[in-house]
Amino acid sequence: MTQPGEAFHRRDGQLWCEGVPLAAIADRFGTPTYVYSRASIEGAFAAYAAALHGRAALVCYAMKANSNLAVLNLLARAGSGFDIVSGGELARVIAAGGDTRKVVFSGVGKTEREIARALAAEILCFNLESVAELEMVERVAAASGRRARVSVRVNPDVDPKTHPYISTGLRSNKFGVAYEDTLPLYRQAARLPHIEVVGIDCHIGSRIAEVAPYLEAADRLLDLVDALEREGIGLSHIDFGGGLDIRYRDETPPAPAELIGAILAHVDARGHGGKTILFEPGRSVVGPAGALLTRVNIVKEGAEKNFLVVDAAMNDLIRPALYDAWMDVQPVALRDGPTRVYDVVGPVCESGDWLARERPLAAQAGDLLAILGAGAYGMSMASNYNSRPRAAEVMVDGDRVYEVRRRETVEELYALESTLP
Ligand SMILES: *Cc1c(COP(=O)(O)O)cnc(C)c1O
Repeated sequence: MTQPGEAFHRRDGQLWCEGVPLAAIADRFGTPTYVYSRASIEGAFAAYAAALHGRAALVCYAMKANSNLAVLNLLARAGSGFDIVSGGELARVIAAGGDTRKVVFSGVGKTEREIARALAAEILCFNLESVAELEMVERVAAASGRRARVSVRVNPDVDPKTHPYISTGLRSNKFGVAYEDTLPLYRQAARLPHIEVVGIDCHIGSRIAEVAPYLEAADRLLDLVDALEREGIGLSHIDFGGGLDIRYRDETPPAPAELIGAILAHVDARGHGGKTILFEPGRSVVGPAGALLTRVNIVKEGAEKNFLVVDAAMNDLIRPALYDAWMDVQPVALRDGPTRVYDVVGPVCESGDWLARERPLAAQAGDLLAILGAGAYGMSMASNYNSRPRAAEVMVDGDRVYEVRRRETVEELYALESTLP
């Protein structure tokens, strides 16, 4: 991840983001700080857009990966739609200047209030996950005198061959409607007066490293589209979800063009080339664009293990603790001297508070480290555990740096709390 031309690269032993040395960012904004590359985000989105060029298509960025307003705004300007999973995310789309008519609303537990707000915002589509949800959307739409556009999220029962916590398209997962229940649900939806059936969707998981599971899911979806059309239920869009992996270490996931080319070939071969095609990528749009910049606070060398205790922790970046994820840790300045094998850990009072394990590094207290590939599911999953203010976020654009979220203060952490009289 440190080749020249990529968002993060080395020049004379120093790690840079685009045209800015990370050391300068640490000096100016402190640590821990998330650093994002504008060019990387825009480039990743453009790869999806280019692969769909000339088609009726919409890329709905799955904003739970990184929902900073600056990120959303750049993507909105590039023409992106958004895949949301809560009313809070809808509010962010609006605040960032996004087009709510390009929003699809996913999630297994939408509330009536969230549905009402999304209806008022005239979103593109509710991706339904159950009979109960269909009935709830009909009720809320009737009460507000609107018609809700809907799609059914099909659980195609395909193994995406990924971590169990991020696989979503197996029968045993809580997501989607079981394949054999899909047609009855569509029939019911087609009869409801405040429902307009417009699409079909799936999302089989995250960190998918191959095209094959997507194609398997796509074929199952297309079988349903055919079956629906035989019953006179026509759809205007097919949404293949997100989930494409990125390179954290030595993974070689397909490029968006390869994935999309293969799916479009199936769509066309089966005679559905006229339909609007949707994708919902999250990680692959923002993951490579971000690094978490942190400073070594304490070097603790022990009989069994050596630790670099840094000022970032699991509350800032939970992927290692939650998914056993491997993240690339790079010294911001290369230093001569002996390399030792370290676990990189935070100060949080949990043994699960680790960021990287058994890494050969030459480092001393005060050194800066960059955890690469942290643009997705980093800040968006951050918490205040241990009363730790969340990190600052900055966006690099060429040789300029913009603070896109200032560091929280400790006072802000308890500003909403009160004591008993
Ligand atoms: C999380 C999610 C995505 C995006 O997944 P990535 O792995 O980040 O690409 C897309 N669609 C839905 C419904 C999701 O929940």
